[in-house]
Amino acid sequence: MGKGSFFPDVSRRDFIKTCLTVSAMLGLPASMVSTVAAAAEKKDNRPTVIWLHFQECTGCSESLLRSSHPALGTLILDMISLDYHETLMAGSGHQAEKSLHDSIHANKGKYILVVEGAIPTKDNGIYCKVGGKTALESLRTVGEGAAAIIAVGTCASYGGIQSVGPNPTGAVGVRDIIKDKPIINIPGCPPNPYNFLSTVLHYVMFNKLPALDQLGRPLFAYGRKIHEHCERRAHFDAGRFATAFGAASHAEGYCLYKLGCKGPATYANCSVVRFNDGVAWPIGIGHPCIGCTEPELLFKTAIADKVQIHEPTPFDSYAPVDLKDKGKGPAPLTTGVMGLAAGAAIGAGVMMARKLPDGPGKGDDHGSAE
Ligand code: SF4
Repeated sequence: MGKGSFFPDVSRRDFIKTCLTVSAMLGLPASMVSTVAAAAEKKDNRPTVIWLHFQECTGCSESLLRSSHPALGTLILDMISLDYHETLMAGSGHQAEKSLHDSIHANKGKYILVVEGAIPTKDNGIYCKVGGKTALESLRTVGEGAAAIIAVGTCASYGGIQSVGPNPTGAVGVRDIIKDKPIINIPGCPPNPYNFLSTVLHYVMFNKLPALDQLGRPLFAYGRKIHEHCERRAHFDAGRFATAFGAASHAEGYCLYKLGCKGPATYANCSVVRFNDGVAWPIGIGHPCIGCTEPELLFKTAIADKVQIHEPTPFDSYAPVDLKDKGKGPAPLTTGVMGLAAGAAIGAGVMMARKLPDGPGKGDDHGSAE
């Protein structure tokens, strides 16, 4: 298998497959794949990135670097000019700090700052220090010269587990401290590496950041709920639920809602892009979604607790009706057909929503909602 000209460690086939995935994620037509590939390969267009670690487990960097086939980590690291990354850089001590200082001044106003981890604010931020500076100081100093900031992971986006009450260190996300810069949140515990890659490629190709939702998340990755694309959704609609881990209903692959699945309230593309080279994801292997991309769910709602379903949304393979855009739609005939399909889906969803919060089903024979 031939190698890519610009990425010696990634085969051409894997490189093109990655570009195809990125194009699909960004909603670009297939004809744009060559443009995506050209942008990824353009050597003189590599954005300077400074990557800071604060209160975190390094899981976001790990999930990015441990990905393989294609070597996403390699691709990402070759596409950017990574000037500072405390986990990856060979230098340490004064050498590392000089590298950070030099990059900030040489690229003022042009570099992308990536933050991984929450920022403790209590007692002047003394609970997290790197190179003698608090995370608070570093974020303010390095953030001041950045063109944009990408908060990678739920800790950097919203504070994560460190910010859960009683929050002894006063941990917060980047958006709570920096108010005058574009901030892109890529939450997840960990986030999917493709979401980071696609955000960077969007910036490289169009010289602007992707459209964001009200929580600062790229819409291309966080625009739909996990529940809308879930492979267990047919069981949800039919009222077949797993009621205990290891039970027959669980082994049958039934819907995990009654085991606390947060998919109906969680915006993310995990059910489409998946993890581990696109073959596995939590719900696929029998674990309920824990809502790790939502600030009010992860570590704030018990894993076994069920979420309320306020706005039932149709499964993604049903007719594409935008429930929030009633009245605007295609031709009347198509609308009628789509309305019937959506009506059936909404009706089923409403019935589920009415029944489900009342508690688990009786027994565990087949996990029925009745
Ligand atoms: Fe999938 Fe969870 Fe929705 Fe069930 S409740 S269909 S497991 S996302």
